[in-house]
Amino acid sequence: MSFDVEKIRKDFPALSQTLESGRKLVYFDNAATAQKPRSVIDAVCAFYSRDNANIHRSAHELAGRATRGYELSRAKIEKFFGAGGEYCAVFTRGATESLNLAACSWGLQNLKSGDEILVTAMEHHANIVPWQMAAERTGAKLVVAGMLGDGSLDMEDFKNKLSPKTKIVSVAHASNVLGTVNDIAAIGEMARQNGSVFSVDAAQSAPHMLDDISSAPCDFISLSGHKCFGPTGIGVLIARRSLLDSMPPYQGGGDMIENVSWRRTTFRPAPERFEAGTPNIAGAIGFGAAVDYMSGIDKTAARAHERALLERLVAGLSEIRGLRIFGSAKEKVAVASFAIDGVHPNDIASLLDADGIAVRTGHHCAEPLLTSLDEFSLTRASLAFYNTEEEVDFFIKSLDRAVKILK
Ligand code: PLP
Repeated sequence: MSFDVEKIRKDFPALSQTLESGRKLVYFDNAATAQKPRSVIDAVCAFYSRDNANIHRSAHELAGRATRGYELSRAKIEKFFGAGGEYCAVFTRGATESLNLAACSWGLQNLKSGDEILVTAMEHHANIVPWQMAAERTGAKLVVAGMLGDGSLDMEDFKNKLSPKTKIVSVAHASNVLGTVNDIAAIGEMARQNGSVFSVDAAQSAPHMLDDISSAPCDFISLSGHKCFGPTGIGVLIARRSLLDSMPPYQGGGDMIENVSWRRTTFRPAPERFEAGTPNIAGAIGFGAAVDYMSGIDKTAARAHERALLERLVAGLSEIRGLRIFGSAKEKVAVASFAIDGVHPNDIASLLDADGIAVRTGHHCAEPLLTSLDEFSLTRASLAFYNTEEEVDFFIKSLDRAVKILK
């Protein structure tokens, strides 16, 4: 099926800009944050232009509009990510806060000395540090399942490390460094059979619209709006309502209570019990507009387009002498991280930037992964469905020239 990328690009105002260097923007930093379609920008603008009011509180018309907009967005997000029926979405600041919510609320209530939290060697800090903090406070232990040479999860090691002590398994659906897509249906099933809670960090998979987020037996799904073409500062934790209702709030304040007296406070059911204070209302509405936008994209065609771009990118990178790509798992999102012998990633990024190409360098908030790869910094090109073959070709040409200058 053909995919009209030029038509899609017109929906994203930032993509057609000319930079201060006089170059046209080539945006290959989508894993850090994605660009926003006009409909998202307009939804946020419309909220502040017309409907701005606090939610769930006042009887006036604007408050009604704001509340309806916020709750309608929640319903759209739940539907888009397959969180119907017993599941619901708690609004958070992003995947990081979602994982912190799970670790602080569920973790501190349920973990104890001798318990284990099983993660993988390819996690982002957002799926390491909150669990480390919960482990320190409860006496539980963080256990790490290893990887194979191609950057895929070592399933044998995972199985060996899954034990009666494993109270929770928390894994990235897609690695932000290697692009590896983990088989969360299989991992989730093993976790379920083991009696472990299963948490998925879907921050990097959600923007690529992989269908299986909802088909896996997940207890917690964490994701960020800004990586899914929505605003920054908004995300969701999707979880079974009954599980959320069994968890204590981890922040107190307005909007999450039933009754407050000097003696004691009672809390509202989920999701409100985890949404203390005035939330990011405009962000939630923008995130709703982003899932509307994603719903209008042909998922199969978008994935085929991204896959073709990734293959072209990897083929081009393989031609560059001294370049090593990290992560060649069979199932990957369109992310390519690489190192070039004798060349510092920041120098590469500066020369690419002079050509208008935006990439990211550094440890990508995955220091333990980089340490295990014996690298301190990688250059990462991360693509979205609005990128083009011409951009990939231009990137390879520019990188090749940069390497020749720097070597
Ligand atoms: N998990 C993964 C795999 C990520 O790549 C990121 C961000 O890059 C996060 C979690 C954290 O997302 P956020 O910074 O939006 O909270």
